[in-house]
Amino acid sequence: MLLWLLIVCMTVSPAFCRADEFDVIDSRGVKATLSGRIHGTADNVLAIMQEDGALMLVPSAAILKRRQKEEFQPVSCTEMKSRLEKKYTPELSRWSVQDPYVVGLVLMGPLDKKGETQANLFLTKAVRFMQSVDEVFMRFAKDMGIAAQNSEFPLVMLIFESDAEFEAHANEVTGGRGLSAGNVSGFYSLIDNTLSIRMTECDTFEVPLHEAIHQQVYNRGVMKRFTPIPAWFNEGLATGFEGSGDKVSTGPNALHTRYALAAARTQQVSWRNLIESDEAITGDILAGEAYALAWGLHWLVVTRHKDGYVKYLAKLRTRDPLSTVTPEQRVADFQEAFGVPVQSLEQEFVKLLRANERKIMQQGENRFPVGILMTSQSLGYVKLQAATRADMGGLVHAKGELRNVSPLREMNFRVRVVTDAGTYAEWILPNVGSRKTVPLPGKLTDQLLPNARGGAGRTFTVKIDSTAAEVPAAGIRR
Ligand SMILES: [Zn+2]
Repeated sequence: MLLWLLIVCMTVSPAFCRADEFDVIDSRGVKATLSGRIHGTADNVLAIMQEDGALMLVPSAAILKRRQKEEFQPVSCTEMKSRLEKKYTPELSRWSVQDPYVVGLVLMGPLDKKGETQANLFLTKAVRFMQSVDEVFMRFAKDMGIAAQNSEFPLVMLIFESDAEFEAHANEVTGGRGLSAGNVSGFYSLIDNTLSIRMTECDTFEVPLHEAIHQQVYNRGVMKRFTPIPAWFNEGLATGFEGSGDKVSTGPNALHTRYALAAARTQQVSWRNLIESDEAITGDILAGEAYALAWGLHWLVVTRHKDGYVKYLAKLRTRDPLSTVTPEQRVADFQEAFGVPVQSLEQEFVKLLRANERKIMQQGENRFPVGILMTSQSLGYVKLQAATRADMGGLVHAKGELRNVSPLREMNFRVRVVTDAGTYAEWILPNVGSRKTVPLPGKLTDQLLPNARGGAGRTFTVKIDSTAAEVPAAGIRR
């Protein structure tokens, strides 16, 4: 019966697929009724698709009864918006709906009149960004001969003004699993199908771009959620679109100099590692190298082995949601599609990098000038020049500038440069206007954190905190 349903779901348009209703019981003995469409099954678990596009994983043992329900009817964009608006409260959220997009701005507090105008402009820009991602992705799919279809569900992007609120939301969605929320700039959730971003990252829309590509892949019918797609392929595809900020004009065929430079310098991760397993790319430690190599592997196959690419993708698309694939099978799938061993593709890549060496070095260095550190946190973007001063007892001397990236309001900032010895320099910057830049005059890390050892530091970190300059206290969440 399950198998039969699954086959029907895959062979007719999902909109005509019937839904089911399930009586379930949780571990505390509480009973409830769920409805939705079966998306996938494994030994002990069912993935049930809800009408808003969210997936629910239910242990088979928790299902008491199952019966057929009327047609599965995906929610409209308007309905989606009103559900989300209720969750984030109408006073503290602003929305823009343009089928199939629902873009929400979750505020840290009330806005003044100017802030309202800016919020509107920002939402318009965000929707335009979603449309451009759509266009550039569909163009790529067409060029590659990949069948792509209209999205069945609303495509939701939530932008969080407050970092704390973004982190709480990330923990709620991921259940605290995966990368620590403090390190994540934005993410697409396979569970609730939503794109969630910090406003801090929307100065250029580069992070949202990567995540929006994941959303496209899973909503345009290119891949199904919870299918065993190798992470290198997924991430290689998404990183391939990065690099042009909010212009959204490039695609995976372009040489991405930042990743190319990083790929040329990798030491611990090999291509075979990536093809066999997702361990390196999903862990915190080797992820940097693994992403660079994933970009490289994807770039090579998409530009030089198009037939193999199409064959490989077709193979991946035959996998069922919640099924598993062994490392040996992953290698076999790869070699069968591309017709050559992994090593020979790796050699081809190294040769190509050498041929483009000058371009990579030049652009890579322009983007990351030596000795300059850039970071975005809490709606502040800091550009800093720092050096250890041996003549000053190993204290760090730092100077630079801070930009308030908030399009909505004036902010108060505190910037700290903290060394591993616990010494620090601090700048307090009240009332920095929206999108204004202010200098961070040269300072030594001559203050000491409580209980720190002090003395010479070898490394340092930058920490930015902020509060809205003028927010009526009653309007602040939490
Ligand atoms: Zn990604």
